Amino acid sequence: MAGEPQPDCLFCKIVSGDIPATVVHETETTVAFRDINPQAPTHVLVIPKAHYPDAQTLAVAEPQIAADVLNEAGRVAAQDTIDGTGYRIVFNTGSGAGQTVFHAHAHVLGGRGLNWPPG
Ligand code: 5GP
Ligand code: ZN
Repeated sequence: MAGEPQPDCLFCKIVSGDIPATVVHETETTVAFRDINPQAPTHVLVIPKAHYPDAQTLAVAEPQIAADVLNEAGRVAAQDTIDGTGYRIVFNTGSGAGQTVFHAHAHVLGGRGLNWPPG
């Protein structure tokens, strides 16, 4: 069924607690945790607890949860006090764009200057 945990999904295992993560905030529908390979002083991943392979499938199936992910991204930025200096929310979508984990996730990046456009 859409949204159900997938046995081979790394981020479903973080949701279930089978794989540990440094969780910075959790809600009924989302988990926010620090990226294991940070690309900026703040690099947090915000994921829906429900499994959808990317941002688009999440937004179509569960628009409220997609909004929850965005809301949490802003909350995490405020918690890490990068909201004043600016931060970036990234959804890599598809392997050609660098997506490696096919459970929807927002990268929240900040705490340093961020070039535009990104590489
Ligand atoms: P993507 O490349 O799919 O946009 O992002 C996946 C992100 O997940 C990468 O930035 C990678 O560093 C992070 N990641 C991969 N495995 C783990 C893990 O086991 N724990 C955490 N906290 N992050 C992970
Ligand atoms: Zn998953």
